[in-house]
Amino acid sequence: MGEAKIRLVYNYSLGPRERKAAYDAARSFADFGVKYDFTDANNLKALEQVKFGDKLGKVVSAKEALVESKDFTQTSLLGHIFAKKIFGIGVTQNPLWVPAGGELEYGVGVGIPGVGGVVSTYLFSRDELKGDLLDRAITAAVRVEIGHVFDATDHSVKVPCIMYSSKNFVEEVVKPGLDFCRDCHILISAGVAKAMQQ
Ligand SMILES: [Zn+2]
Repeated sequence: MGEAKIRLVYNYSLGPRERKAAYDAARSFADFGVKYDFTDANNLKALEQVKFGDKLGKVVSAKEALVESKDFTQTSLLGHIFAKKIFGIGVTQNPLWVPAGGELEYGVGVGIPGVGGVVSTYLFSRDELKGDLLDRAITAAVRVEIGHVFDATDHSVKVPCIMYSSKNFVEEVVKPGLDFCRDCHILISAGVAKAMQQ
């Protein structure tokens, strides 16, 4: 059996505190048997084994990044064709544009099942989150996107779960300190098992 591995891909300018908060999120997946490490986005060698790492490196490095839906399709395909083993999660302090209902808006993150994701701390900084609350928001956002990578989906139904698609992520998810619900645990365990078999 192979391994399931996450590699955090940090923007060069990301502060040590933000890096640690993201790392804590990756570490929390050790309970699922997921391995994890980190790299800077300019370490091309470290991106080589990451699924669609060159694209991820560019997104993380951009002053304002756009993740389009066509990237997802293309990325999914290439992820399988190249059979790269490591899932990349980009973390940047710069704004991230994401598609939302046919429009583009600033987003906290994007996660693509079986491929990888990106998290931006920009909205948290803009909303002046600080200290422990900022740490927890970043950790939660990274956990959500890793959840997506391992096939957990957003909840439209309101159950106490970190994957609940809230109107206000900080108030409804971060402050109550929500974790994965039982259903998400099952989905993620299956997603990790699938990744280990590839
Ligand atoms: Zn859930």
